[in-house]
Amino acid sequence: MGRANAAYYASRDPFSDFVTSPEISQIFGEILGAWVAVVRQSLPAGAFCLAEAGPGRGTLMSDVLRVLSRVPGGLSGVSVHLVETSLRLREVQKQALARFDVPVIWHDAVEELPEQPFVLLGNEFLDALPVRQFVRSGAGWRERFVQGADWVLCPAEDVPPELAGREAGEGEIVEISPLSLAAVGRLGRVLSRVPGVVLLCDYGTSRSLPGDSLQALRGGRPADPLEHPGEADLTAHVDFQAVAQAAVSAGAVACASVTQGRFLEVLGARVRLAQLCQAAPEEAAGLTAGLDRLMAPDRMGHLFRVLVLHSPGLPVPPGCSAGTDAGESEWG
Ligand code: SAH
Repeated sequence: MGRANAAYYASRDPFSDFVTSPEISQIFGEILGAWVAVVRQSLPAGAFCLAEAGPGRGTLMSDVLRVLSRVPGGLSGVSVHLVETSLRLREVQKQALARFDVPVIWHDAVEELPEQPFVLLGNEFLDALPVRQFVRSGAGWRERFVQGADWVLCPAEDVPPELAGREAGEGEIVEISPLSLAAVGRLGRVLSRVPGVVLLCDYGTSRSLPGDSLQALRGGRPADPLEHPGEADLTAHVDFQAVAQAAVSAGAVACASVTQGRFLEVLGARVRLAQLCQAAPEEAAGLTAGLDRLMAPDRMGHLFRVLVLHSPGLPVPPGCSAGTDAGESEWG
């Protein structure tokens, strides 16, 4: 899935195939903008790196900067750092952010970020990175590959360390994403050295569960992951337990992941909706429908989760609670 997805992001407009939270409702980015303003208060004063991984069309960052520009001193010392591999999307992002009076710098990878107090946002970034699938077979594992237009099973020669301790019954599939865990490990090491806070929002599970979650979206519709390689968006559920573990092993602190619905609720998304509806009653129906799509349990509210990581010694950021997801129900 790795190469097919790289080709996909480099060449296509992903937003004709799927639509993300910041594209659905401006309230998503506004809430995160207010959150960034509060979190910044807990970081050392001075230069501030506002970073985003996989910024898509730049909509989230644009909404965040709009909120910060309305907070007194909100943009002082801010530089924006975008981790984006697609040159085409970099151009779209440049245009989206041109109206803000802040420097914008692009990077290929998170370890290129400056060593300054920072906040990094990543919405639907982890799910864009490739997964490997393994099938429990007796005491060992077989790896599930795509060959030509078919799935094949081969005895797993290298059993990646990420599989250690993973439970699965005979014939069950376990997915791991070594590339996303490596990216989070690198972020965790940065957090252990440089004061910062990272917010990752994605669809996935709070605990590591077996199952095949690989899916393809093409033209807004589910498609066969094996058809049209490079033309469909391939994604897999994010395993937030593994992601949090990767960050903690690297020296960061992980909060418990929370559902997107609860996170937005606690941070006042409905209050913001009421303000917007009052200011523009003719747009109230559309605004309400958009936020409902992000928050309703049977839509994106429970499927999507927010995981916050931070440097040791910093307070728990708003909307989060300390500790792990242990004991929390899967969709709690
Ligand atoms: N965050 C955006 C877009 C999500 S789509 C939104 O919410 O709308 C995934 C984004 O990650 C795209 O911008 C894609 O080009 C980028 N991307 C994919 N693989 C990447 C990688 N390995 N490193 C950095 N960015 C990547």
